Amino acid sequence: MPSLPSRRRIASFLKPFRVTNGSKFKLKRVDPDDTGGLKSKEAAAGILAVGVKRLAELQDRLYAQDRWSLLLVFQAMDAAGKDGTIKHVMSGVNPTGCQVFSFKAPSSEELDHDYMWRSLKALPERGRIGIFNRSYYEEMLVVRVHPELLHGQKLPPQLVTDDIWKERFEDVRNIEQYLGRNGVLIRKFFLHVSKDEQKKRFLERLHQKDKNWKFSMADAKERNCWDDYQNAYEDMIQHTATEDAPWYVVPADHKWFTRLVVAGAIIDALESLDLHYPTVDAHKREELQLVQSELEHEGGGSKKAGAHTAKKAPAKRKPVKKTPAKTQGGDGAGDVA
Ligand code: ATP
Ligand code: MG
Repeated sequence: MPSLPSRRRIASFLKPFRVTNGSKFKLKRVDPDDTGGLKSKEAAAGILAVGVKRLAELQDRLYAQDRWSLLLVFQAMDAAGKDGTIKHVMSGVNPTGCQVFSFKAPSSEELDHDYMWRSLKALPERGRIGIFNRSYYEEMLVVRVHPELLHGQKLPPQLVTDDIWKERFEDVRNIEQYLGRNGVLIRKFFLHVSKDEQKKRFLERLHQKDKNWKFSMADAKERNCWDDYQNAYEDMIQHTATEDAPWYVVPADHKWFTRLVVAGAIIDALESLDLHYPTVDAHKREELQLVQSELEHEGGGSKKAGAHTAKKAPAKRKPVKKTPAKTQGGDGAGDVA
């Protein structure tokens, strides 16, 4: 099995796809067919397998440390491979520490609130990885491409002006900054598929019976608005890419390459956090030794004490103070890895 490249190598591999300042960003400069010079799908699969393993280790520490959370936002045109990328890249992580939300057209209850309401409710708790399969960014994409959706949002008419997209970009930048200041690390992915490749994948879905379910009539309708979407994506990335919440514009015509870039970006994000297992202080260690000793003497104390058993006689033992189980938002400092 290959070994994982160094942090520096991962960062330089990701550089062409990472946008932290969108002012000069041009979507047409990113080639959906790009494979970063890599030729072999098999070699990429080997590297991905090591990456998936590393991701699992990092997630374990993220969960144990219980301080940061990681929000991964996925946006793309239909059939760009969001679902498959999430499935493969996250295949090694512990489901307990990971949650996926797929955002569809808002319900009438959701339309009765501001557009961020449903997303804020779905944010990952500390220690977790949250995945948004589509997100609040649809408010600057599908809603922009189909203005009738905006009219369905019941906004006071005087608030719907020509500045609305500029205002939404600004609000999203501010919300993401706020989240960052509260320990939510954000990474955003636009899986950039070409129009030809989308056609190929749609036809596959139509030809193969077991893939028919993946095709919806809406997909063909949205394809007709291809250029409007490309413009909306470009404008959105130009206005919402920041140092702390960067966009990765990921070539998506080769699924194996897409997965490699996404896995690399998530590893890079988690590596930046200095994640470590909480340490146990002297008082806690003493408590643990007492519990260990109690367990080893359970049932009359006939069992010989092990090498690590505390030397105290059971009769003189102080009652062990109960410590609360790991709760969300609790102080993880006393938790044991
Ligand atoms: P798949 O790859 O399975 O097609 P998908 O993400 O496209 O996944 P769908 O159920 O096909 O899922 O489509 C969800 C639809 O919901 C998308 O067309 C998207 O544009 C739409 N949607 C998401 N958020 C909003 C929103 N805020 N307002 C209007 N439409 C939205
Ligand atoms: Mg769809």
